Amino acid sequence: MEKKIKAGIIGATGMVGQRFVSLLENHPFFEITALGASGRSAGRTYGEAVGGRWKLDAPMPERIGKMTVTDASDIKTMTEKCDMVFCAVNMPKSEILALEDAYARAETPVVSNNSANRWTPDVPMVVPEINPEHLEVIEAQKKRLGTKRGFIAVKPNCSIQSYVPMLSPLRRFGIKRVLATTYQAISGAGKTFREWPEMIDNVIPYIGGEEEKSEQEPLRIWGRVENGKIVKAESPLITTQCIRVPVTNGHTAAVFVDFENRPSKREIVEIWKNYKGLPQTLGLPSAPEQFITYFEEDDRPQASLDRMLYGGMGVSCGRLREDTMFDYKFVGLSHNTLRGAAGGAVLIAELLVSLRYITAK
Ligand code: NAP
Repeated sequence: MEKKIKAGIIGATGMVGQRFVSLLENHPFFEITALGASGRSAGRTYGEAVGGRWKLDAPMPERIGKMTVTDASDIKTMTEKCDMVFCAVNMPKSEILALEDAYARAETPVVSNNSANRWTPDVPMVVPEINPEHLEVIEAQKKRLGTKRGFIAVKPNCSIQSYVPMLSPLRRFGIKRVLATTYQAISGAGKTFREWPEMIDNVIPYIGGEEEKSEQEPLRIWGRVENGKIVKAESPLITTQCIRVPVTNGHTAAVFVDFENRPSKREIVEIWKNYKGLPQTLGLPSAPEQFITYFEEDDRPQASLDRMLYGGMGVSCGRLREDTMFDYKFVGLSHNTLRGAAGGAVLIAELLVSLRYITAK
């Protein structure tokens, strides 16, 4: 690219924000030019504001550590410094809605990790390999907002990326019912073992709001565009249980599925191995060469061995076999803060740049 897109990160000091920092530093399309967080961090250097909260193995990039953090509510200062923003903040839903709306209206596209706008009818919620056509609604959204270049696009919840990629190409067989239990890493709550020692040697059978998201968001991903809005799919019926387990990174899902026209096991594995989406066709920088990796070994995928496939952007699965109550069962895995959060958002932004929804100002 002859001119990089100037990117701001809102919530830059948090768990997902730190991932954005590490993914965007030295990115071929983007250059980090603004860091936003709460008033508590504003005015301090990024290094001071994060302090002992840096959670990644790789060190904080030196240049970023010296940048000054801006109060994210100071929209004017933030938007003067950037062409678009990534957003991942821990705030009440009504405040996130107002914040993302304000950036979009200030002609600054927002690519968000937050759940607040996931059901706004003209906001696309996208996994770039699965439903890139939903980006079409951006035109209707810009009309509603009265903007030329400002809009909001979001990514779905991290949990569903451990099973929706595998189920999506099988929809041609008419998926009737899905039962999924997710085993979710502690980084999904923005935590490490040091900050959450109660999770050591423990399993917690509740993650607030997660089961509803895990059951409903796949239907929106599989929905259709109608008159500038996303209309969610009516089926399949999905039921989930979401459980917190003592794993640092990587959400695992145990999945059961029934079809109207049951495919053979061989057909399913072939479809998974050959599944490519627009990011692969366009050769986007964060696109994994292989979207779904199928393991023949009975003891794979494993979080610690397989979450970093293709830089944490590849999802994996294994143990596909017939079941006594459903047609099939299998186990899926995805990296929750890479494919499921910051990496997924960066891939959406790369697609938006490639399709010219995001340009330099
Ligand atoms: P986190 O580690 O708690 O970080 C929260 C961030 O929000 C911090 O940068 C914080 O800034 C900022 N913030 C809080 N109040 C603010 C305010 N009033 N104005 C501006 N910034 C404010 O949370 P996280 O795990 O990164 O999650 C962030 C978002 O991503 C959430 O919506 C979460 O649901 C979503 N998400 C997380 C994951 C995951 O795997 N962790 C996956 C998908 C989606 P200060 O440091 O200044 O307080």
